[in-house]
Amino acid sequence: MENRPQLSVVVPLYNEEGNVAPLFERVEAIVTRLPQSPSYEIVAVNDGSTDATLERIRDELRRRSGVVLVNLSRNFGHQLAATAGMDTATGDAVILMDGDLQDPPELIDAFVAKWREGYDVVYAIRRSRKGESLFKVLTARLFYRIVRRMTKVDIPVDAGDFRLMSRRVVDALRGFRERHRFLRGMVSWVGYRQIGVPYDRDERHSGTTKYPLATMLRFAVDGITSFSDAPLRLTSYLGFCSSVVAFVYAIYIIVSKLLNINPLGYTPGWASTIVAVLFLGGVQLIGIGILGEYLGRVYDEVKGRPIYLISDIERSNQP
Ligand code: UDP
Ligand code: MG
Repeated sequence: MENRPQLSVVVPLYNEEGNVAPLFERVEAIVTRLPQSPSYEIVAVNDGSTDATLERIRDELRRRSGVVLVNLSRNFGHQLAATAGMDTATGDAVILMDGDLQDPPELIDAFVAKWREGYDVVYAIRRSRKGESLFKVLTARLFYRIVRRMTKVDIPVDAGDFRLMSRRVVDALRGFRERHRFLRGMVSWVGYRQIGVPYDRDERHSGTTKYPLATMLRFAVDGITSFSDAPLRLTSYLGFCSSVVAFVYAIYIIVSKLLNINPLGYTPGWASTIVAVLFLGGVQLIGIGILGEYLGRVYDEVKGRPIYLISDIERSNQP
């Protein structure tokens, strides 16, 4: 590639027909006004949209220069669509952002400034979130803190995927071919010099969230399982604890039988039996469930299927 652009802006889009035009408008307005006017490309990934998103992107492709359309063969999900875009992007720095304008393109200015200072990753930290339910905000806050405690990787709290990555970080990420992706964690794993810039997350420009509760949960489990094996160890800890309790109780029973005393006044009955059975049954099922989560992921990975398929790539004519 001879005329590699300096900046690539990668946007995964799934049913965002109402957002495409304003998105391109705002991104182009900001990148053309950056100091030292870097060359740029906007990589729009159509993640199997069922609305007019594809046609809207093609409209922009005809209207503007520097547009690249990556059309996936079907819907692969946000993280894989973003990966497809990053794999296609050729810029010296790659900016990943959502297509619903919740990530204000104006922040690109600050990203590029930090990159020019020599940072390899500039990620945006959500100082506030507009137009999102209290439930989503609270669960997200909790989630980032749990993941942080469970993993050895230094994943920043309250940062999404809106970020700039240098070429060497993007190249490093190309080597990660895992299917269940937690991109923000993978970027932290890579290391180099990383810095956060705070911003206020806007409301969605149009349309509805593509992350309903079930998808959010699955994404959260992906995040934890791909960066931590702590849940696997949890079962052993629980097993160890219940064994200790059982052992102490057994000694108590033996001693009280031998001495023929009954200080706790237990009646030999079903209450303690039921509690023990239910508790151990619960612990065992949780343990099997956790094993299943990891095993299912191992199964998915060993199949070694491609993680996404591109139907076609279209580029706008020369600038
Ligand atoms: N997205 C995608 N494929 C999907 C789901 C979402 O490419 O299967 C895109 C979506 O179009 C948007 C971004 O991922 O550009 C973030 O999605 P969304 O705004 O719904 O997530 P939220 O901001 O509600 O967490
Ligand atoms: Mg959004």
